[in-house]
Amino acid sequence: MLLVGTGNQHKLGEISSILGDLPIEVVGTGVLPPSHEEIEETGTTFPANAEIKARAFAERALALPADERPRWVIADDSGLCVDALDGAPGVHSARYAGPGADSEANNSKLLQELREVSEGRRDAAFVCSICCVGVPAEGDGPIDVLFTSEGRCGGRIAFEPYGEGGFGYDPLFIETSTGVTFAELSADEKNRRSHRGLALADFRAKLLEIL
Ligand code: IMP
Repeated sequence: MLLVGTGNQHKLGEISSILGDLPIEVVGTGVLPPSHEEIEETGTTFPANAEIKARAFAERALALPADERPRWVIADDSGLCVDALDGAPGVHSARYAGPGADSEANNSKLLQELREVSEGRRDAAFVCSICCVGVPAEGDGPIDVLFTSEGRCGGRIAFEPYGEGGFGYDPLFIETSTGVTFAELSADEKNRRSHRGLALADFRAKLLEIL
């Protein structure tokens, strides 16, 4: 059993379908005992935050009886890194415009920060890290990191939003190989090229090696 450490049903569905043909059961955080503790993403890098989340969900899984425990727990962390902003918003992508900021506020802030940056200097990349930890079959430790997968997708930041699809920074991110924003691609087209799609492909290959 593989537990996906996310409350996001969309991510759970995407990961379940990518692993659909493998002989493992993929479950969400609903199998864990309820917890009101929020996981603090205190890392300064994507892999560090992915590991913090994977470990935190694995700790919760230790409260389950041995026959209900997942064997592996994964968690991801992702965001947008803009060269002209020294990698910002980076690990702060979700709350770039402040606590509770929505995508519109984050996108406005990004355009504002780049208002004097010319076309040729607007390079950016979406990055996604996935951390996979092993859960001890019984007892309560140790929780080991088995591997980390990373996906990166290059592009540049537009001067205004284009497209209706996707979420977050998608309308501002012009993907290099297609020349259009992520928000202008179909979900399938985006998944094939996206940082998350690439990280998941690597994750799938590495998981196959240890199965
Ligand atoms: P998370 O770690 O996947 O929750 O992503 C953190 C933040 O990065 C999101 O709230 C978005 O602002 C941004 N982000 C991550 N992936 C994408 C994407 O595929 N499109 C647009 N924004 C994204």
